[in-house]
Amino acid sequence: MAVKVTSIRGFNDILPATSGLWSHIEGNARRVFETYGFSEVRLPVLEKTDLFLRSIGDTTDIIEKQMYTFTDLHGDSLTLRPEGTASLVRAYIEGKLYTEPVARLFYTGPMFRYERPQKGRYRQFYQIGAEVLGEDSPVLDAETIEMLWVLMNALGVEGVVVEVNSLGCAECRPAYKETLLGFLRGKADCLCENCARRIETNPLRALDCKAEGCREATDTAPSVVDSLCQSCSEHFKGLKDALEQRGVPFQVNSRMVRGLDYYTRTTFEVTARAGGALGAQNAVAAGGRYDGLVEELGGPATPCFGFAIGMERLAMLVDKTLAKSQPLLYLIPMGEKAAAVGATLVRALRDLGLSVVVDYRGGALKGCMKRADRVSADFALIIGDNEIEAGTLTVKNMKEGGQVNIDLRSPAIVAAHVGGATTGTARAEG
Ligand code: ATP
Ligand code: MG
Repeated sequence: MAVKVTSIRGFNDILPATSGLWSHIEGNARRVFETYGFSEVRLPVLEKTDLFLRSIGDTTDIIEKQMYTFTDLHGDSLTLRPEGTASLVRAYIEGKLYTEPVARLFYTGPMFRYERPQKGRYRQFYQIGAEVLGEDSPVLDAETIEMLWVLMNALGVEGVVVEVNSLGCAECRPAYKETLLGFLRGKADCLCENCARRIETNPLRALDCKAEGCREATDTAPSVVDSLCQSCSEHFKGLKDALEQRGVPFQVNSRMVRGLDYYTRTTFEVTARAGGALGAQNAVAAGGRYDGLVEELGGPATPCFGFAIGMERLAMLVDKTLAKSQPLLYLIPMGEKAAAVGATLVRALRDLGLSVVVDYRGGALKGCMKRADRVSADFALIIGDNEIEAGTLTVKNMKEGGQVNIDLRSPAIVAAHVGGATTGTARAEG
């Protein structure tokens, strides 16, 4: 007996019931990002393991336990990318994009992390990321957060909040680390095993930990914002002022440290309010500044800011019904002659940008109509002997009822009647 091969846990198929919504989201992201001057880069999913080891941070969850790393036939250690920023920076350096004063880039695609699969957390998940390389103004941070906010609005997302923080720089972070370490040493017993182990090497991780004990222990921890040096302090104020000026609502969350070590100064997250569609995995997008990363990976010193959106989580917040804007037509030719006439008409309708599928199974009209219903067609186009005789086709409204006859040689009238695209573009995105 044949054995059914199933998918890998945490690796999902995105089937047609969802993929239309994803295209709708991606289409909006492309449109909005382009209005802010961003261009797309397409990056490989496989990178040399070293790239991530040198950028993400030894004591992060990603490096400690989440990477899909393997040795290829040549003996090289390769890793399925767990995130996009490191790859993007590598491409920026290799492609010498730093010869432009400022590079504004975006990417989309799958990321891979060996995590415990649950709602909103998968082992292959998709991100849309945007990064600006070559600009250190806090106003740029605000403008980029605004761009994300504009996208959320365009998608009709409600009930999300922007949280911002500053993690300081190489000047002031070490002192904060010491202060926090002094505070946490007294509470080591309350911390989870993981945080207790890395407290000496990376005490900031405890602030990000979701374990009950860590949350309580760090509740009264000294705030990073209080230990910023003057220039980081001014940078943070510049960010807040610029966000206010742009009307982007935000809250300061001085506990937010993010899961990757390369962040400097600004960090931010967009989270869904408690009790919403996302449940416990409530961060829908996150990012920040990484002023040291390009240099760390062998490029020229370059201040950078960027974010990544979690596609699966964003899709849970977007109203599905908004995605479908193009009606589906279902052509039913009754007999051979009708099929030939129908083929010409269908070609013309498709040239006008309409979505049409043809029933090839034939048989009684009743059965054909049932199939039209099963594929959720909006209109059935029927061509039978009577229609050919009269030179018309019958257009039946499947959702609201009613029917009309339209001249077989007038695809434009059909298009106008069904209210679909007449521009030759595929399913509309906006
Ligand atoms: P989280 O706190 O949810 O673990 P993170 O800090 O690991 O997120 P980033 O690495 O900054 O997240 O990724 C940005 C976004 O990608 C997250 O806000 C989330 O929406 C999404 N994301 C991250 N990991 C996963 C995953 N395993 N499955 C689905 N989406 C994810
Ligand atoms: Mg994570």
